[in-house]
Parts: sequence; C-alpha cells; structure tokens
Amino acid sequence: MKQKNIVVIGAGVAGLTTAFLLSKRSGYKIVVAAKHMPGDYDIEYASPWAGANYMPVGVRGTQAAEWEKATWGPLENLAKNNPDAARPADGETEDCEIRSRSKDLGSATADWFSELLSPNPWFKDVVPNVKFRVIPSDQLAPGIDSATSFTSVCINTAIYLPWLVSQCLKNGVIFKRKVFKHILDTTKPDVHPSGQTDLVINCTGLMASQLGGVEDKSVFPARGQIVIVRNETGGKMLDVSGTDDADDEACYIMTRAAGGGTILGGSYQKGNCESQFDPNLANRIMRRAIDMCPELTRGRKGIEQLDIVRHAVGLRPVREGGTRVERERLENIWVVHNYGHGGAGYQSSYGCAETAIDLVEEAFQKLAHL
Ligand code: FAD
Repeated sequence: MKQKNIVVIGAGVAGLTTAFLLSKRSGYKIVVAAKHMPGDYDIEYASPWAGANYMPVGVRGTQAAEWEKATWGPLENLAKNNPDAARPADGETEDCEIRSRSKDLGSATADWFSELLSPNPWFKDVVPNVKFRVIPSDQLAPGIDSATSFTSVCINTAIYLPWLVSQCLKNGVIFKRKVFKHILDTTKPDVHPSGQTDLVINCTGLMASQLGGVEDKSVFPARGQIVIVRNETGGKMLDVSGTDDADDEACYIMTRAAGGGTILGGSYQKGNCESQFDPNLANRIMRRAIDMCPELTRGRKGIEQLDIVRHAVGLRPVREGGTRVERERLENIWVVHNYGHGGAGYQSSYGCAETAIDLVEEAFQKLAHL
C-alpha cells in the first residue's frame, strides 16, 4: 500500500491528539509542523493555558455534545491508567461541583455554561452515574440557588502535551518548527520528508483567522485570565454560574495533577486579545475564589493568604457556529480542518480528532476511485 503523506499544522491539543490517533493506524507518514510546540508559552498558543478539566458545555443534541461525549472515555482511561499523562497519580478522578445562581441567568458566563448548569445535563449518563447528583437545597452554599456534583478529570497541560508528543514520536511522527503564511505552503518539498504532501490537517486554533487560504473570520478570542496558586482544595473542583463583578468574568477552581498547582479562574472576554494580566481582575479572581472555597486558605481571610505561582492569560479560540471539523479540496489537495474549539479543546479533543480522521480516510478512498 502506498504511504500517505500527511502534514498536521499545529501542535496544540487538537493537532497532537489528531496526529497521535492517526499515527496508530497503518500507512500514514505524519509530520506535525507548528510555530509553537509544547514547552512554549505564547498568547497565540491556547493549549498550555487551559485548566484543563472535563466540564461539558456542548448543548444536548449538538455535534459539540457528541464530541465531548466521545472524549470522556479516553480521558477517564488516561486518568485511571496513565498517571504519566493525566490526573491523578493515585488513579482516582476528581469531584466537580457546579453552582448556579438565578441572578446570573442570561449573562455571558451563564450562557456559555448553560448545559453545565442544567440539573439534567446529557453528560449525567456519561460520567460515572453513581456520582452525578443534584445537591439537596439544605446543603447549598450561601447565595447559591441550585448545584450539581459529578466525577471529572483534570489534566496537567505541562505534563499532558509533552506526553502526547512522546506518544506520537514512538509511532514515528516527525515534528518540525514551521510558520506558514498560506495553508498550501505545507505542500512545499521541504515540509514532508517524502518531498510530497498528500493531505493537510489544519489545527491552527485562533490563527485559522489569519492563515492564508483559510482566513476564517468567524474565529475570535475569548480571553481567559487565571491565577495559579500553591494552595489546595483537597482535590475538589468548583464552578459557579457568574460573578457580581462583571458579566464576562467567571469563578472556577481546579487542581491540576501531579503538583501542577491550583487554577483560579477566570474570565471569558470576547474579542479581547490583551496578553498581559490585569492586576485588578487578578485581585477579583483571587477574592472570589477564597469566598467560594474557604478551604483554599484554611478559612483565613484575604488574598495575601494565597501563595501565587504565576498569573496567566490565554485566548480560547472560539468560532461562531462551533468547532470546524470539515474536509475541503483546495486546489488539488485535500485539507481536513479541526479548529475553533473555544473553551472545550481538551474535553472534545478525542471526539473531534476521530471525526477528523474519518474525513482523512474518506478523502483517500475518494482519491482511490479517481
Ligand atoms: P492551540 O493550542 O492554540 O494550537 C494552535 C497550534 O497551531 C500552535 O502550535 C500554533 O503554533 C500553530 N499555528 C497556528 N498558526 C500557524 C501557522 N500559520 N503556521 C504554523 N503553525 C501555526 N479546554 C478544555 O477542554 N477544558 C478546560 O478546562 C479549558 N480551560 C481553558 C482555560 C483557559 C484560560 C483557556 C485560555 C482555554 C481553556 N480551554 C479549556 C480551551 C483550550 O485550551 C483550547 O480549546 C485548546 O487549547 C485549543 O487547542 P488548539 O490545538 O486548537 O489550538
């Protein structure tokens, strides 16, 4: 069988997961070519900044929900059986509590979380169902109108992204630093070692809005600012439907595996590309986190009780109309797109990559019939 030469643009969670799953199949010689690689921290590179946990936001009945559904199994398996990849080293998963306040209805954060906040979300049948529960009203925290709790996982991106690279390398994938102005620059002879590219997989995230030949203007950033602290919650993840400070600010806490620290979030600022952290927002994030989870500072008041590792900002690559996993013929080459995952790039990564791979295989079947 003739070798199929693939170039994946992008080494974020989308590009790496797609390359990893494709590299398990025979007949493909894959190059991952990207401007940024695991280990880099850059405002154009979303993946290192993510929490990253599994808190589904895809609305029931949508393709987004299907991708998240398909991703739970692989992530749970990693968390339980691959402590070198995902949370946690002791093989357990984390409890996640989602709190809802009626007054947040209609806010940007509550809209984004609409499925997550539901007392009857589709994923209650996906995550271990013995664990999903609606919290009784007499057990709700002050100011909270309803809440649910379920088992989830939290990925330490500093471990997980290099783990994906290592799995790809074991399967013969080649990694290269490249910056492409146009998507068809991937077909130049110096990109793939065979000198020929048969198919391109576009996993450029936010930069799909600028890459020549794609220039998808429906892709835009939703700025997320976080604080990483050494304080711990006892393994609990918490999220609330909104804040009293601003419509596009959020309040969530998650503990990364293997000493990755505790993430305090956050914000969901559409169209904002500012790469530097805003100290006032950082103070609000820390104050809200302590109010929501006094265990963080063992009941002591004041943000100075938090032991800060660093402040950080990342841009979620949101796409109007949802993530694009599609095939397209550009000039005489097939391109498979997998970008625009917004705030769900990890929790939909396996589902999206599997769909992208189906499109790759179909493209070669079509070529075989030409
Ligand atoms: P990226 O990680 O941005 O990677 C894009 C890649 O393409 C990079 O390698 C880049 O260098 C390359 N590239 C782009 N253009 C070019 C070019 N022209 N030439 C060469 N290379 C190019 N998701 C979750 O599922 N759970 C969470 O808890 C979560 N929390 C988040 C918290 C924050 C604060 C943020 C910012 C995001 C969060 N996300 C979360 C979302 C998640 O991080 C993104 O959806 C995901 O990282 C997108 O991955 P990607 O591979 O598509 O893009």
